[in-house]
Formats: sequence, C-alpha cells, structure tokens
Amino acid sequence: MEVLAAVVSEHNVPLRVQPVPLPELEVGAILGRVEAATLCATDVHVWHGDLGSKAGQSITPYIPGHETASVVVDVNGERRDLLGEIIKPGDRVVVAYPFCGKCFYCTIAGQPTLCEDSIRYGRERCDLFPYLLGGCAEYHYYPARAEVIRIPDEVSSPLAAASACAFRTIMHGFERLGDIRPNETVLVQGSGPLGLFATAVAREKGARRVLTIGGPEARLEVAKALGADEVLNIADASDAAQRTDWVLGETSGRGADVVIQCVSASAIPEGLNMVRRGGRYVSIGTGPEAVTIPGAIFTNKNLKFASIRSGRAHHFHQALDFLATRKKDIPFDLFISAEYSLSQTTQALEDMASYKIVKPVILPTLA
Ligand SMILES: [Zn+2]
Ligand SMILES: [Zn+2]
Repeated sequence: MEVLAAVVSEHNVPLRVQPVPLPELEVGAILGRVEAATLCATDVHVWHGDLGSKAGQSITPYIPGHETASVVVDVNGERRDLLGEIIKPGDRVVVAYPFCGKCFYCTIAGQPTLCEDSIRYGRERCDLFPYLLGGCAEYHYYPARAEVIRIPDEVSSPLAAASACAFRTIMHGFERLGDIRPNETVLVQGSGPLGLFATAVAREKGARRVLTIGGPEARLEVAKALGADEVLNIADASDAAQRTDWVLGETSGRGADVVIQCVSASAIPEGLNMVRRGGRYVSIGTGPEAVTIPGAIFTNKNLKFASIRSGRAHHFHQALDFLATRKKDIPFDLFISAEYSLSQTTQALEDMASYKIVKPVILPTLA
C-alpha cells in the first residue's frame, strides 16, 4: 500500500506529491495519520541544501517537516506516553526525535539532543524503510525508541505541531538559562514564533521587564499581548546601532541581563552588544551565514553564552503544558499564519524563505 507525501527529490527544486510505501510497523513503532505539520526556517535551509546532510551523505529524496501533530492509527505492541499512559488509536500525539541511547552524547555526556545517530524527522530518505519520516505526508511513522507526548485537548493540532520544534526549543533554552530573577530584564531578539513564545515564557518566569525587538507591527502587538513591556520595530530602527541604543536606554545604559536570540544567527553580534556585562546570552535561531564577533567581547563581558540544539521529550511536554494551561489568557493561535495543502508545500517553503509567512501549516490534503 502507498500513501501520498510531498517529496524533495533534489535540493531547491519544486516538490512533487507522490506515492510513498506504507511501512510495516516494527515492534513498538506507531503509525500516525498527520493532522497538521508546520514548517520552520530549518526546513527552508534543508531544502536549499545548506543543512541536513548526514555524514556527508545525501538525504534526498526526503519528506520535509519535523513539526508534526498526528492521530495514532496503529501501534505494534504496548507503548506508553511520557506520563506512563498506554497509547491507543485515536490519541493525538507529537513525538520526539528518536535518540540512539548508545552514543557518547546519549550516555556519558547526557546530552542526547547531540546524538550522532538520531533520526531527524523531515530530513531522512523516503526511499528507504520506514519511508514516512516527514510531516508533509498523509501518514507518519514513529520508531519504537521515540518518546510520545499526548496533545492536551486545549491545544489545536497546528499549535501542537509548532510546539514540536519552536516551543520545545525555547523550553530547552530556558532550562539552560536557569532561573530568571525578579529583578532581571529579558530581551528577546525576534518576534517570529520562537520570539513570541520566548516573550510569553519570560513573562511567566517572572522577569522584571521583557523587551522584544522584531516586526512587523502586527507581530509586535502579539508580543505585547504575550507580556512584552516594550517593543521595538526594526522598521523604525533599521541599523544595529539604533537598536542597541534603544536597549541601553531601556536598561540604564547597562544592557539586558538576559538576551534570547530568536532570529537568524546573523543577529548574534548585535545581541552581544545588548547584553550587560556578566549577563547571559542564549542562541536559539539558526542560519548558515558567517558572523564576526569581536574576540574580546566574551572576556570583557564575563558572559555566559549557551547555544541550544533541539530539545528532549520533557521539553515538548513543558511546551504543550504551557500552551494548554495559558490558552485562555494568551492568543497563541495568532502564531499560526497560513494553511497550505500538500501540493502547496513548495509555495509554503518559498513564502517562508521570503519572510512572507512565519509559521505555515501544511494540511494533508491535495487541494
Ligand atoms: Zn545517541
Ligand atoms: Zn524546526
């Protein structure tokens, strides 16, 4: 039997919707019917060929999409979710990347998001078993070693899909940051889904003030609704010096205690000028571009700098739980910008690449 999926056969070439084999389930594996897949900047970079090859091997053909909410249709054997409940057909789930559990990073280092042999949804070949490892398809295969998180009833499938990358990475970032003290000012660079979610969580964590830099205006209005005390539109402050002056003006000339970089990595040098001496900087947004940083900035500033790669199952749980419990107060659905069918996946990637759309949702339909 075959099912339909949007397939990248070659980097940078439009995708085609084509049949892909429906795999037999290995013991412990789960088959999900995709309810919604969202795309992030990583999908664009992988499509462009900037990221994603594995040990130098080509990953094409592949099905994009690593942020997916599915309904369980089949489980081979008994599986339990993160909270210990048995997973059954009809459950809505998001599923973490399966880490190998055996490599140096999984065992000795205790940093499984750096696993050298993980399966990375949305960039695995779809001409090899188990074929369905990307969200832009009718069905998704979840290997036995992947941890499963049930989606709370309060959270829509598109929003849950977005939590499967953007929001869980933010939760990982806050874990690395440690406590936010009540006297601290947090600056968020960016007002895309990462930046908006970081704004909401920084507010909830008890920051004294939350500042968000981004655009356009509509997103900054959302940032304010989510708890930003002050926002700066990059359209009104188009050069880095102006933006840095704004942050210094808002922080008695010292800079923010904590800066969370939720835009392209090209914003890191600017962000390092916005964090106070002795402050903390967390780099979350990615990008292939080279950046130049004055060598002395780390020693002069006595900074803590952390970079975040992906997240673990408990970060997914934290993100979904946050969305479910704050749903009444926070307009999270504003994060989700536009819907596309499987056959419009190329358009969705192009719209993301040109910054027209922040968080496209791919629905498993053809028209
Ligand atoms: Zn591993
Ligand atoms: Zn992502």
